[in-house]
Amino acid sequence: MATARRRRSRNRLKPPVEPRSGVELDDIFQRLRESGRAFDEERLRRVYEYSLAKHGDQMRASGEPYVTHPLHVAYLLAELGFDEVCVAVGLLHDVLEDTLAERDELRDEFGEELARLVDGVTKIGRHAYVQRNEVQAETFRKLILASAEDIRVILVKLADRLHNMMTLEHLEPESRVRIGRETLEIYAPIALRLGMSRLQGDLQDLAFYYLYPKQFETLDSRVKEKLKIGRTASRKISDRLQKELAEAGIEADISSRLKRYYSIFSKLRRQGIDISQLYDYLAYRVVTGSIRDCYAALGVVHQAWRPVPGRFKDYIAMPKPNLYQSIHTTVLSDSGQPFEVQIRTQEMDLVAEEGIAAHWRYKAGRETGTGDHNIVWLRQLIDWQQEVDDPRAFMSALKIDLYPHEVYCFTPKGDVFTLPRGATPLDFAYKIHTDLGHHCVGARVNGKLVPLKTALRNGDIIEIRTSPGRVPSRDWLSFVVTSRAKSKIRNWLNTEQKKRAMEIGRRMLERELRKHKLSPKKILGGQRLAKYLVSEGLASNEDLLSRIGFGKLAPRVVLDRVLDAEQLAVEAEAPGALRQAVAKMLPFGSSPVTVRGSGDLLTFLAKCCNPLPGEEIVGYITRGRGVSVHSVECSNVKNLLYHPDREIEVEWARQDDEVFPIMLSIETEDEPGMLARLTEVIARLGGNIRHIEAAAPEPGRGQIDVVVEVRNRRHLEKLRQALRGVSGVREVDRRMGGVAG
Ligand code: MN
Repeated sequence: MATARRRRSRNRLKPPVEPRSGVELDDIFQRLRESGRAFDEERLRRVYEYSLAKHGDQMRASGEPYVTHPLHVAYLLAELGFDEVCVAVGLLHDVLEDTLAERDELRDEFGEELARLVDGVTKIGRHAYVQRNEVQAETFRKLILASAEDIRVILVKLADRLHNMMTLEHLEPESRVRIGRETLEIYAPIALRLGMSRLQGDLQDLAFYYLYPKQFETLDSRVKEKLKIGRTASRKISDRLQKELAEAGIEADISSRLKRYYSIFSKLRRQGIDISQLYDYLAYRVVTGSIRDCYAALGVVHQAWRPVPGRFKDYIAMPKPNLYQSIHTTVLSDSGQPFEVQIRTQEMDLVAEEGIAAHWRYKAGRETGTGDHNIVWLRQLIDWQQEVDDPRAFMSALKIDLYPHEVYCFTPKGDVFTLPRGATPLDFAYKIHTDLGHHCVGARVNGKLVPLKTALRNGDIIEIRTSPGRVPSRDWLSFVVTSRAKSKIRNWLNTEQKKRAMEIGRRMLERELRKHKLSPKKILGGQRLAKYLVSEGLASNEDLLSRIGFGKLAPRVVLDRVLDAEQLAVEAEAPGALRQAVAKMLPFGSSPVTVRGSGDLLTFLAKCCNPLPGEEIVGYITRGRGVSVHSVECSNVKNLLYHPDREIEVEWARQDDEVFPIMLSIETEDEPGMLARLTEVIARLGGNIRHIEAAAPEPGRGQIDVVVEVRNRRHLEKLRQALRGVSGVREVDRRMGGVAG
């Protein structure tokens, strides 16, 4: 008793759409017969009995046996004019989800087609919709359409939802709100997409009733009041319409319809008006036998009443995307109140109410030969985006792949995102947030850890795992498919590379500047540098530094252009700051190698190349271990070039006075002044000449032997090269063996 009273006080009004009570299998057969379809009664009976047996003692929240629900869903499908297969799927649609039945069993009992369709309905039901914004809702609608794969799956799902909405009062308030919202945001728009405007209206009004009971009640009483007051006026309009059309010789059915409650409610809310300001709550409908009569009727209406400018719409010439066709016009009544007249043919009227269902009946009537027309119709109806190779095959299977280039995936919180087919968890991560992509270390799809290159599927729930230390890697580019992920990864790699190059460039420039006892500040903000940048087509200091860092520009070249000759002339003798700092940190030590300009650094010979005394060497400042000394040929040296700031000049240790006499044999042209030129070069390079001898062994040829003191092999090589560069010198050879005096 208490329950009954509470229920009555909660809903003084009845739900706007109520289920037909006591539906039985025979009612379904009756509806199927009415739609003029052949069907296998025995088979449907078997399907029903299977469903009955599977659901067994299960009860609905209403206290009725569970099977009343599939029975009712099947009835709605038959009533809408869908075929035997749809009806059978309606009867079976909950057995996979709610009973112990298995897909294989279904297939063995009733064949693959039914099993596949029931499986499809079950899968759709598993996508959990979390209310978000309109974009999310649209993506979710696409997911529902995309995961259906067969349009009949959607039809059954819509009938299922309609019956659930009709019986929503038996559920807890929380469930009512959740299901009501989902209906409003997902299923009603899908019904509209399929042109099923009556079903859409039923779903919306039921949702309105449960989500906004107070507003529903207020609207209901105000509308009824309005209808009562306006009754005489509206009868006058209907009568006059009738009379005028008859006089013009146009056969037409005239009726007036109250707008759907939810549609009135939305309009009032959208326009911020009160119901007293709403005039077109009634629409007059004129249904004729032909398109020609539609336009003739329009002329009659516009002659009888004055049309409101801007309120005429010709959806016959320009059908809506869901193929709705009708003429709409708003005119002013004699008392000055506007009202709407809708004019259409019978066929258009049927399509306007039932959409795809009307199409089904149309198809049933003409079983063959209309394939192409139907394809166009259906494709447009559901916003088909792809060309189909063989339309007939497509139609016969009713297989749909509405969004063949997209997949829809969820975050763990239920946000749904659109991605291209073949997209990976990494694409998903970048779609959500750049940082989520950059630091991505792994992903769980539907709870399972998967490789980052796994292709995602419709409805997957993806959890991205990150680590702050993770950064993008170049090989990610080989498997991500979204341009967003690609560009974000590339961007990161380029920026990182450029950052590194800039840092290297900065240090190289600073080192060059220190040689001239100059600070970077002096030149980096200066006029001359600005001019130089412009002349080189560089945008900024950063550009300059990264060019230096990438090795495309030598710092010395820059300084030559930016500094004065006298600034350049000051050569710093002090070692650089870094070197000084390192020198302070490191203990003194003795070594076969010394660091030039700072003899007190700890050095050791690198194990990788073990340079030999006399070989050309180069030093690198290690972290805390002193200076490692490599042969310039060492392959590690090339890697170390990434840190030019740590490079340091070294040379083999020697006593200051230690020199080695060697003999060079120089072959020359026999030219005057040759000897003077050679000695001048030797002196300039710091070679001390101990002995020199010149001769002319044959005409035109000179032979000069010189004993010169050199410090090391490098010194010797420099000397030889310089001598070879002197004009008139043909060859310079080192004479091995004893050196005289
Ligand atoms: Mn169901």
